[in-house]
Amino acid sequence: MNKNSLSGKIILMVEFILLISSILFCTVSIYRARIGIRKAIQQRMLDIANCASGSVNGDILKDIYEDDIGSPEYNKVYNTLSVFRDNVELEYVYSLREESEGNFTFIMDTDPVDPAPYGGSTKCTNALSLAGKGIAAVDEVPYSDAWGEFYSAYSPVMDSTGKVAGIVAVDFSADWFEGQLSAQTWSTVGSYVVILFLTLLLAAVLSMLTVRPFVRMQGQLLEEKVRAESANNAKSDFLANMSHEIRTPINAVLGMNEMILREDRRVSELPVMNEETVKEAFKNIDNYAMDVKKAGHNLLAIVNDILDFSKIEAGRFDITEAPYGLSSLVNDLNNMILFKAQDKDLEFNIEVDPTLPNELCGDELRNRQIFTNLLNNAVKYTQEGSILFKLDGERTEEGMLMLKAVVRDTGIGIKAEDLEKLFTKFERLEMKHNSTVEGTGLGLVITKALVDMMGGTISVESEYRKGSTFTVMIPQKIISDVPVGDLQERFKANNPENEAYRETFHAPDAHILIVDDTRINLTVVVNLLKNTEMNIDTATSGAKAVVMAERTGYDLILMDQRMPEMNGTEALNLIRGNPGSASNRSPIICLTADAVMGAKDKYISEGFTDYLTKPIRIASLEKMLMKYLPEKKVERIQEDIRAARAKENEGKEDYAPLIEAGVDPQTGLKYSQNDDMLYKTLLSEYAAGMENKAENLNSNLRAKDWDTYSIYVHSLKSTSKMIGATALSEQAARLEAASSDKDVDTILAEHDSMMEKYKAVARAIFTMIPEAESQAARSGAMEFKPTKGVVLEFNPK
Ligand code: ADP
Repeated sequence: MNKNSLSGKIILMVEFILLISSILFCTVSIYRARIGIRKAIQQRMLDIANCASGSVNGDILKDIYEDDIGSPEYNKVYNTLSVFRDNVELEYVYSLREESEGNFTFIMDTDPVDPAPYGGSTKCTNALSLAGKGIAAVDEVPYSDAWGEFYSAYSPVMDSTGKVAGIVAVDFSADWFEGQLSAQTWSTVGSYVVILFLTLLLAAVLSMLTVRPFVRMQGQLLEEKVRAESANNAKSDFLANMSHEIRTPINAVLGMNEMILREDRRVSELPVMNEETVKEAFKNIDNYAMDVKKAGHNLLAIVNDILDFSKIEAGRFDITEAPYGLSSLVNDLNNMILFKAQDKDLEFNIEVDPTLPNELCGDELRNRQIFTNLLNNAVKYTQEGSILFKLDGERTEEGMLMLKAVVRDTGIGIKAEDLEKLFTKFERLEMKHNSTVEGTGLGLVITKALVDMMGGTISVESEYRKGSTFTVMIPQKIISDVPVGDLQERFKANNPENEAYRETFHAPDAHILIVDDTRINLTVVVNLLKNTEMNIDTATSGAKAVVMAERTGYDLILMDQRMPEMNGTEALNLIRGNPGSASNRSPIICLTADAVMGAKDKYISEGFTDYLTKPIRIASLEKMLMKYLPEKKVERIQEDIRAARAKENEGKEDYAPLIEAGVDPQTGLKYSQNDDMLYKTLLSEYAAGMENKAENLNSNLRAKDWDTYSIYVHSLKSTSKMIGATALSEQAARLEAASSDKDVDTILAEHDSMMEKYKAVARAIFTMIPEAESQAARSGAMEFKPTKGVVLEFNPK
């Protein structure tokens, strides 16, 4: 509702009622005034007639007959009446006599031009008849005769005995009468219009001074109430959603912990324990522990959002400015988002204007938070297509850059009417469609608050079901003009999905340490180097690296330069300066976003063996490693060896039955880190649990226990996704949403076909891995049922 629309409407209504009642009042008043005016005119006519009749001697008039015309008595009466004829308003003055009942005749007419003849009869009106009875009266309606149309006033003349001797009549033309009536009416209307106008003016002034503020205040109170109620509802929804968001990872932790305990029990109860069984148990426990870690990180992210939000609400959020490298920021973003996008088969592109200055000063952490929030949302709310992160900017005043970041996606988009709610706290949109998407509804509120605090702006354009574009502008100080250069090229070369990438060496005996304060960067480099089979340790700070280097003699150390508390050079000096350190003489390569000319010399003069610029290109990294790793530990791969290996593996795994059942082994393998053994184990477990899970789904369907049904179907969604049964996973996701919404029609319509698919996948697995079937018989113990109120989540989202 428009801010003042309610108060405006009330005021308009009051003024309208005032106007209508004033008009009604004026109309009635004018009508009554007109009756009064008519009476007044008639009274004036009567007064003239009375005056004329009063001047005539009744005794003389009584005796005037036709023979008396011209006699002194006749003339006396004639002259008396003639005086009244001079009155400009009236037309005729004459006298009459009632010869017999209702029959009146002229005695004398003072009209000099065309007088009525003596004895001529005249029309008898009500007024005339009354005058004949001695009562002066005026015609109510006009009458017509040979002289025209008139209103007449009649006044009786009495003789000395008190009898009616005759009647004096004065005629007023009908035109004069109507003219008088309308002239006086109009002047009355005029006065009422003035009164009406003055009343309205007064009402307007009064309403402006008293009523308006009062009504507006009432309107505002009402609007505030509506707003408060809707904010309160949003808050309740938020709390409900938040408790779900927090419960999900906690349930995952509990569920996985339960699995670890069972695995532990299972192994300890084994009659014979050999190396194989121990290895298998470790692997299982490792996987469960990884899931616990992932859930813990999710929980931490939620708690961080809540903390950030409460800090913002309390006004205790600070912006800390420090120099940072733009290319390193973009590199981290790329590492953080690329895999998430690829997991959903989305294309992720980064376009950075190569002329942007690399060295900026601002709050790098908050910038990263802003861009990550927007990019994470883009991935979350996009099912297919692409995501673009574009950076350019404009130099404003001396030494300042207005950094412009655009995040564009081809996702679900936002309805026009929802756009204004986007940055409102506790609001999540389209919950019907997004109920399975994780989120707290705080991300954009925090993002906007951060942008505002930095003096920037954030805007969004979106087309529903087509996609959204978020644009952020943040002012940053320029430290140096050295440009970032062509980052796209570097990212492209680094993409492990890139067909062209193949590891160039194997070094299973080599042991290296990678140091970077950004955990995701470590994950990326470790993943990039996985195929080289090296032993890789990681450290997230300079201090930790120094301790690790002291204990272990690494063949090589990759050391990030810019780190909080202890930077790369300081850590290097401590390692080199400690002759007791096991890695005292190991080659140490500097990792830096600093691509400035002469940087290499600078780092080498500081004691680094060599340096690599971020984002790291896998090709340069491998080259660097081959150059500095002990030669005897490096086994170079030639293309022919690779080809021979490929051939060796060819056809080893026949996934045909799986593919036929709608499973994409490539996707499944990706979730198993391309580890064929692990994938097969997962497939076996998946198929082994089928009977149990199918029975649970069916029994809950029969019992119409939608809450428990949704838990099982959720688990089916996750596990199916993990083995690459994407269509089945999507169908399970639909049924999960339907069971949360208690949409029984959809559940009944899709349940059977989902179960068919599920069984077909399990059958395909049994065909491919016959051992899985015998495992299925034993697997009752491994399948666990959710305890009341606890949602067990196993795997990837
Ligand atoms: P959430 O944690 O729910 O993602 P956000 O504050 O980040 O919270 O976003 C608020 C709401 O805005 C989301 O619930 C979603 O409905 C909508 N939204 C945000 N980003 C996008 C996007 N890129 N495409 C479509 N909808 C979006």
